[in-house]
Amino acid sequence: MTYDVIVIGGGSAGLMASIAASRQGAKVLLLDKGDKLGRKLGISGGGRCNVTNNKDMDDLIKHIPGNGRFLYSALTQFGNRHIIDFFEGLGIRLKEEDNGRMFPVSDKAKTVVDALIGQVRKQGVEIRMSSPVKRVLYQDGSVQGVLLHSGEKMNSRAVVIASGGCSVPHTGSTGDGYAWAEAGGHTITQLFPTEVPLTSKEAFIRSRELQGLSLREVTLSVWNAKGKVVISHRGDMLFTHFGLSGPIALRCSQFVVKELAKTERREVLLTVDLFPDLSMDDLYKESMALAKADAKKAIKNVLKPLLSERLIPMLLERSGLDDQLTYDNIPKQKWLDLCKLMKAFPVHIHGTLSIEEAFVTGGGVHLKEIDPSTMQSKLVNGLYFCGEVLDIHGYTGGYNITAAFSTGYMAGLSAAQQ
Ligand SMILES: Cc1cc2nc3c(=O)[nH]c(=O)nc-3n(C[C@H](O)[C@H](O)[C@H](O)COP(=O)(O)OP(=O)(O)OC[C@H]3O[C@@H](n4cnc5c(N)ncnc54)[C@H](O)[C@@H]3O)c2cc1C
Repeated sequence: MTYDVIVIGGGSAGLMASIAASRQGAKVLLLDKGDKLGRKLGISGGGRCNVTNNKDMDDLIKHIPGNGRFLYSALTQFGNRHIIDFFEGLGIRLKEEDNGRMFPVSDKAKTVVDALIGQVRKQGVEIRMSSPVKRVLYQDGSVQGVLLHSGEKMNSRAVVIASGGCSVPHTGSTGDGYAWAEAGGHTITQLFPTEVPLTSKEAFIRSRELQGLSLREVTLSVWNAKGKVVISHRGDMLFTHFGLSGPIALRCSQFVVKELAKTERREVLLTVDLFPDLSMDDLYKESMALAKADAKKAIKNVLKPLLSERLIPMLLERSGLDDQLTYDNIPKQKWLDLCKLMKAFPVHIHGTLSIEEAFVTGGGVHLKEIDPSTMQSKLVNGLYFCGEVLDIHGYTGGYNITAAFSTGYMAGLSAAQQ
């Protein structure tokens, strides 16, 4: 069979590519190896599908630290506002939540996935499920079609690779696209886990003393070997039985991975500022004032309005303060040490969970080899890439999905126009 466009992978990027290509009147075949389309999209955003983010362009790009600037052209042509219009045009009502995150009003990812699949079908795209692609076929610098594992060949002058990364492989993304890209002469940059929980061998993590403790509105900072802060993120985090998780730990994870790799360091220092709105000086004065106001009270109780009860014994012990002390006999230097600890509670991180357990795969098809306005390969005529298979990664919060929809749309449109 011959098609105008073959799209490999029915995730966020591939579904959007199929829609964009078929809108141009192209005869499109969508291949997926799984028995369900949009699997990863269906579990994203906590199963509610964070379709996009309503921030403006500069902010969007800032939240895609893995080569967000490459997306400038694609986002201009099909960015977050277009994505919102697109879904509303399909009758999906969206709502904005904190930090610009956009969700379907139904709070169900299924609404979004079903709407995309419905549109793909409506536009006459031929869908073949349970059809794993083995190879992309090339000849004389051009795409010829694809070969399935079943041995069946399909011909096309345009192939869109939308096979995703290699995280959460049960959704179908097992990294197959990298080998097809390499066979076409492309470079794959180092793959690494990102948006992934952090692991630590600290004694207090191993002993599970703080397991399950979540901290709200704190700042987490990653330090480099030279003692400088590489990145800080403010928000919520969680102590787990293996290390740290929660939104800001995930956001810091790619910087931890890079620090660990850079110098073959075995550990990276992270610090938690429990009071990001107070200077060290203010924290000292405020906490002292609290103790003074209740001068007969033991300090472990004085600290209760300020700190989680589970943190107090550890902080007091580390500062060398007896928990029964009262205001009159607090040693000033040790109270200062306590405040320092509250402003920079250290956690040594020794690794992350695996790339398979990560929310997103960092690295991928080298962007120097891709035209940013069409997503076409600069090396193989008729070959297009979109979504997580590319060397693009953003924070969770709708940024990866936006990148996948945007590059998917551009790849599908350009492939059809070819
Ligand atoms: C639990 C979870 C939560 C997330 N939450 C967020 C969030 O809140 N915000 C955010 O921005 N991002 C989030 N993400 C990331 C986001 O979902 C992905 O980056 C995005 O969906 C990737 O889309 P994609 O189309 O590139 O790849 P995928 O959705 O992975 O699709 C790839 C498709 O290719 C198919 N395929 C692979 N190999 C073959 C083959 N050989 N033959 C045929 N088909 C093949 C697969 O079956 C799959 O359907 C989350 C991810 C996870 C796992």
